[in-house]
Amino acid sequence: MTAATGEMNLILGIDLGTTNSVVAIVEGGKLKVLEESGTAILPSVVGLDERGELLVGAPARNQYVLFPDRTIKSIKRKMGEDVTVTMGTNQYSPQEVSAIILRTLKERAERHLGFPVRRAVITVPAFFNELQRDATRAAGELAGLEVVRIINEPTAAALTYQPHPTDPETLLVYDLGGGTFDVSIVRIERGVVEVLASHGDTQLGGDDFDQLLLNHLCDGFQREHGIDLRQSPAARSRLLHAAEDAKIRLSDEAVVSVEEEFISEKDGAPLHLQVEIHRGEYESLIGRLVTKTLKHVDAALADARLNATDVSKVLLVGGSTRTPLVQMVLADRLGQPVNSDLHPDLSVAMGAAVQGALIAGVDVGPVLVDITPHTLGIEVYGRVNDSLTTHCFSRVIHRNTPLPANRSELYATCADGQEAAHLGIFQGEQNDTRYNRKIGELRLEGLADADAGNEILVRFALDLDGMLKISATERATGLERQLTIENAVQRGRRDAKSRADQTAAAETSLRDDLESNEASAVVEVQSPEVAAAVQRGRKLISNGQNVLAAANPEDAEELRDLIERLETAIAACDIPSIDDASASLEDLVFYLQDA
Ligand code: ADP
Ligand code: MG
Repeated sequence: MTAATGEMNLILGIDLGTTNSVVAIVEGGKLKVLEESGTAILPSVVGLDERGELLVGAPARNQYVLFPDRTIKSIKRKMGEDVTVTMGTNQYSPQEVSAIILRTLKERAERHLGFPVRRAVITVPAFFNELQRDATRAAGELAGLEVVRIINEPTAAALTYQPHPTDPETLLVYDLGGGTFDVSIVRIERGVVEVLASHGDTQLGGDDFDQLLLNHLCDGFQREHGIDLRQSPAARSRLLHAAEDAKIRLSDEAVVSVEEEFISEKDGAPLHLQVEIHRGEYESLIGRLVTKTLKHVDAALADARLNATDVSKVLLVGGSTRTPLVQMVLADRLGQPVNSDLHPDLSVAMGAAVQGALIAGVDVGPVLVDITPHTLGIEVYGRVNDSLTTHCFSRVIHRNTPLPANRSELYATCADGQEAAHLGIFQGEQNDTRYNRKIGELRLEGLADADAGNEILVRFALDLDGMLKISATERATGLERQLTIENAVQRGRRDAKSRADQTAAAETSLRDDLESNEASAVVEVQSPEVAAAVQRGRKLISNGQNVLAAANPEDAEELRDLIERLETAIAACDIPSIDDASASLEDLVFYLQDA
């Protein structure tokens, strides 16, 4: 093909999102997502600066909380409505605002390619009606684009998935973005994609997670200093960014710290915000919202007249699906792994570009993503099939995670005065480590003299060459040990599905090795689940002790009983009993504090 026909044929793939937009192209047979300033993601926000200059993307987004009057976000929600929005002193239709975003992406592509581009495929949610689709088309035209096709977002995502060449497959596309959630059941056969059912909530997404985290930060600050930071736009703006940043880090990190200096002042002295947030704590904030999405998953399956077992693959789309709790809850409901091998925030634009290439008659090679075909983790004391064992496999990097991957989990020592933690490193898919493959051991010796529950942060970093770097850090002291395992896993490709299954079979035969494995098992840390229950219990005991003095003799006795019960349960690391005693103690403490 000559350069000229290439130029003529080129069709942009555009994901015009509520929160973020992305543009992708197929160039020289290869799919490319176009980046600028180090990122492919263009926030779908438009604004005017103080001099009336147009801002698009991150700068507009950054000024939103401070200058809502001259900033517009989430315009996609208004597409197809006969309304105008105000920015500064001007009125705009939703199409005009969307056109500004589309033109920005068009120009990005032209800068990359060095020639003008006219044609584009633009994606919309499956639930968009004709008016909304027409408005999207009109926005494209205002931006100087011929919209050759409008396609559904789940369809686009499915186009980047390499399905079986002939057999039909049923995919479940779960898309949790910034401000919207939808789930679609998609059938794909010989490259033809059909949306069978789609459900969702247009008011649910990562923004809500940010808001919950922001409130959590503000509540804590208010308790400590008596100042409500939500009342100050400047403080709120900073904290909203900090909350989103913390949220994103919590997808990979077990614990993050949020530090905002000079966030407020009291009696002329500056006040700083300094908080540590554990992933478990964050998960308890968002749990209710995450569970809410399952209702729609059930509804979509019911509409398509299918059971969860009919789904051959779950595709995760939308930045918020990087949240481990979302993946966990969904995998649990569907009874199958959901670790998507797509790029959650890029796959829709990529699919649009694939569709564009198909229309232009350009061949696209398979869309490949480097992934790890095996789960990597450590052996801990934790729950396997409802009983507690020292052979619990705690996953740190899940199978099918795109590479490079860098994740941390928080563990805790099992015994008072424990001097060392010997961590067995395993690879495999079974909950019981004895059925997985041991690939190394890391010894962290010389721990501080502390009670059981001494926190140990374990980090796994797996690079593209399959080299795994593991570090274990005692959080209280910073004591750290590292281990590097070359070739921890063979690097997989997106179609690694079959390879991983073969490996699963190989792992089963390892059962014969049980004894040797057992002999070398040195388990000295608790699973995050046990550690969190213990931590919660300890906190409650101290709350209980605080209200003890003021309680009447009868309540005091009940209080002491419950504290003792909880202490016994903690000593035994017995989670059901810890939870049980914690619930009773919490009720009583709550009642006594109120009285
Ligand atoms: P939309 O399709 O609604 O435009 P995206 O799919 O781009 O939105 O998702 C944006 C949301 O994803 C934001 O709320 C953002 O904070 C969230 N997000 C991005 N990366 C992560 C991450 N690593 N972990 C959790 N949430 C993330
Ligand atoms: Mg999206």
